[in-house]
Amino acid sequence: MIPFFAEELGNINVLRATIATEQTCDAAECLQVKNSVLVLKDQVVANLNSVDIAVSTQNLVVAQPNDQPPPSDENELIPWEVKLSLLKPPTSLRSQQNDVKEWWTSKLLLRQSPEKQMQCRHCAQGFLDSAIEYKIKDLPSEHWYELVECWICHETKPEEHQARMKPILARPHVLLVGTTYFLIHPENIIKNSLQVDPIVSKRLNWDRGTLTKWIAVNCSKCQNAAGEGQYCMEDGKMQLLAVKLFKYCIDLIPNPSEQPAFTDFLVSDLVNTAKIHATHRFLIQGRQTQSIYALIWLFNWDTNIVHNNGFIENNDHLLVRERAMKVIYLDCSFINPDNDEHVKKYIALWSNDKSTDHLIYPDNHCQQLVNTLNQSTLILPPFMRKINHPAMIFTKNFSIGFIRRSD
Ligand SMILES: [Zn+2]
Repeated sequence: MIPFFAEELGNINVLRATIATEQTCDAAECLQVKNSVLVLKDQVVANLNSVDIAVSTQNLVVAQPNDQPPPSDENELIPWEVKLSLLKPPTSLRSQQNDVKEWWTSKLLLRQSPEKQMQCRHCAQGFLDSAIEYKIKDLPSEHWYELVECWICHETKPEEHQARMKPILARPHVLLVGTTYFLIHPENIIKNSLQVDPIVSKRLNWDRGTLTKWIAVNCSKCQNAAGEGQYCMEDGKMQLLAVKLFKYCIDLIPNPSEQPAFTDFLVSDLVNTAKIHATHRFLIQGRQTQSIYALIWLFNWDTNIVHNNGFIENNDHLLVRERAMKVIYLDCSFINPDNDEHVKKYIALWSNDKSTDHLIYPDNHCQQLVNTLNQSTLILPPFMRKINHPAMIFTKNFSIGFIRRSD
């Protein structure tokens, strides 16, 4: 099999592909394209019809990439870049380019039977008192407060508005639905099903900061992250005021037709934050340990890639076409002595930059994200995996990766 990776460049209607061949093969001479099938000396490289892509051979370009180092041994494959015109723009997959899907909305919940359970995704322990018929309501956007505050700055008597800007509180028997979590009154949480995260708990200081604090809570049975609890201190005892259950940490019963994964919620966080803050750079931070797991530069939040996994392993693999977010990232989770200084330098550089946003998730989800990103880099030809352009000072030695979009 011949390794194949391609990206659909929708705005210029080009499919930019890379294949790799043996050194004796001159792909510029022998690559043929017929009816959207790429063939190299009678061997099918990619049948694009199978992924609903039609290309023309007009303006076909097959060439070796610039600045390629000579192969290190005689068995090493050499890359070829192939540019093909797309006969139809990739509209079908790009119809909602500017919108991200909302998962598990109030609408979807209202269509279900009124009895609900929310249980730990790991061990299925129930968190919610399911004997109650809940009212279901939407919460305003995460960025609602910021927007209101932004307007208040321009008013003559800001204090009047600030007094009215009370935070939205959890109410008994009401499920408040946010983009990535459910806000629930503690009365409706099954007793002792949640517990404060021990690492975060050690760091708490009630003498400083706000009177109420949002603190990471875990499933009491399996210790996996479940969400956050809002606590205050009363007579030396922590009182629970509200609970956020993260949608990616729980299963909903009855099972909705859609089963979003963590990356689906990450995609909506990235896109929504990028839109509101006009930023494209993010530090991914662990909620418990507070360590930075990755620096992510959002490069293209809606693109299509086509590949056969050929650059990862030499197994026959079907051609797949995936909608993805293209990112440039630095894996900060695995600090080895060689890249230690490099990673530290870039965390400092990005942290000090005001146009960078922090996104905070449970540590195991951050690690899972880094693993997913590293895996996605491998579908690329080796010479395309890292950015090393002298002009891109913020991303020296960063990797290219993809976050799959299932919305
Ligand atoms: Zn659990």
